[in-house]
Amino acid sequence: MKTYDVIIIGGGPAAIVTGITVKKFFKEKSVLMIKEEADGLVPCGIPYIFNLLGNDAGKNKMGPKPFVNLGGEVVVDSAIKVDKTAKKVLVKSGEEFSYGKLVFATGSEPVIPTFIPGHDLRNVFYVKKSFPYIHELASKISGFKNIVIVGGGFIGAEVAEQMAASGMNITLVESEPLCFSKAFSPELSAIATDVLRETKVNVMTSTLVKEITGENDTVQHVVLSDGRKIEADAVTLSIGYKANSQLAEESGLELNRFGDIHVDNYGRTTVKDISAVGDCAQTFGFLTGRSDVIKLASTATAEARTLGHNIFGIRIKKCTAGTLGVFSTEINGLAMAAAGANEKSAGESGVELISSKFSSPDRHPGGLPGMSNLTVKLYASPVDGSILGGEAWGGKSVGEIINIISLAIQKSITVFELISFQVGTHPLLTASPVNNPIVRAAEDIVYKMTCSKY
Ligand SMILES: Cc1cc2nc3c(=O)[nH]c(=O)nc-3n(C[C@H](O)[C@H](O)[C@H](O)COP(=O)(O)OP(=O)(O)OC[C@H]3O[C@@H](n4cnc5c(N)ncnc54)[C@H](O)[C@@H]3O)c2cc1C
Repeated sequence: MKTYDVIIIGGGPAAIVTGITVKKFFKEKSVLMIKEEADGLVPCGIPYIFNLLGNDAGKNKMGPKPFVNLGGEVVVDSAIKVDKTAKKVLVKSGEEFSYGKLVFATGSEPVIPTFIPGHDLRNVFYVKKSFPYIHELASKISGFKNIVIVGGGFIGAEVAEQMAASGMNITLVESEPLCFSKAFSPELSAIATDVLRETKVNVMTSTLVKEITGENDTVQHVVLSDGRKIEADAVTLSIGYKANSQLAEESGLELNRFGDIHVDNYGRTTVKDISAVGDCAQTFGFLTGRSDVIKLASTATAEARTLGHNIFGIRIKKCTAGTLGVFSTEINGLAMAAAGANEKSAGESGVELISSKFSSPDRHPGGLPGMSNLTVKLYASPVDGSILGGEAWGGKSVGEIINIISLAIQKSITVFELISFQVGTHPLLTASPVNNPIVRAAEDIVYKMTCSKY
């Protein structure tokens, strides 16, 4: 039986970044990655396979090459048993490996709504992070005309937008009054839903699916709770993801109430020498410290880096107290992003907020080619002015503007400090220094806090 200093189970972003970090900083350590599928994909790129990448899943491949280049080893097989006492992992083909440290990076799987009759008919699909599955879906999809997508979170919406752009008749059914409502504030969710409606997607909100029906085991209709029937050659169910934590549970690891593997700030489970990172591991809300469910590649890789540095003992202190959740997307040319709290999520947690927004062209003068209107909304504590959340929408710069806001939240920067935030500006690249939307939104909060009642 071969022995490794570290064995990582999984092949997604969390596994790859854990492997790279360990091999880069502890060159002499032997590291094995056990991944169940030979080919991997960029999970966040899946929606774009259906249109922008020309229905070619091969253009969205991702693998552990950077880890292998650093001397990491890979076995393509499924880990099926972990003996935490003997410190061994058994894989499906019968081979066993022994470990010094074990990392679960087994990710998440789409939630299967067994409560919807017909969820298992032929041509009912899920947005699985599996290359062979998505490759097959992409090849099948060109034969379909009418597709119903259930779930208007960012994954369902991105898939709907892309499939519609490729010429299919797409209906998106969302039970909430607005799409994107888990990621965005009510204001930005409304903007995002309107933008989605401006595409060719037929968006049905406040609408519940009662059943999926068909003949010869193959889907034909989606039946709504009000009795209406939508014709469907295929249905894609996108109602959320749950941790792939069954093996962890069978191995004696503790799970939390959401089924995520219980870990501390450094990814360590309750069992010695076993850690978990990424979608399979629990996250803690940065405001409340309570366990919550945030499953993002950005979060997974940050956790993986923290673990990679600290797997043999804590050497680099984790700099954040909890998971912010930084979401970004682009629908029909409008980029939208959010980090941390908004009035809805803060309200649910009993956190007081004060907010303000500012819009400005993201070039100066605004008549320059390529200009988009950029809006930044900041949420701060009315007591000390620290930034607790933010949203941005507009052109491509939104993708990085939200990361500045995310850093401000993580470092507890206040609106008072942002008054003297030094930014670089250029007519072709940024908003005017007179109207930097982050600074101006912060200034407006300072005004509300010091010169007027909010
Ligand atoms: C369509 C889509 C779009 C997304 N867009 C974004 C985005 O824009 N930004 C963002 O931050 N996040 C996005 N996400 C979320 C992001 O993809 C996940 O958070 C991320 O993939 C989590 O990485 P992970 O490595 O923890 O898990 P996963 O990516 O789920 O990988 C887990 C891996 O473990 C393997 N595995 C599981 N069990 C075993 C076993 N027993 N033995 C061997 N191997 C095993 C699986 O095959 C899989 O390869 C998106 C997700 C989807 C589906």
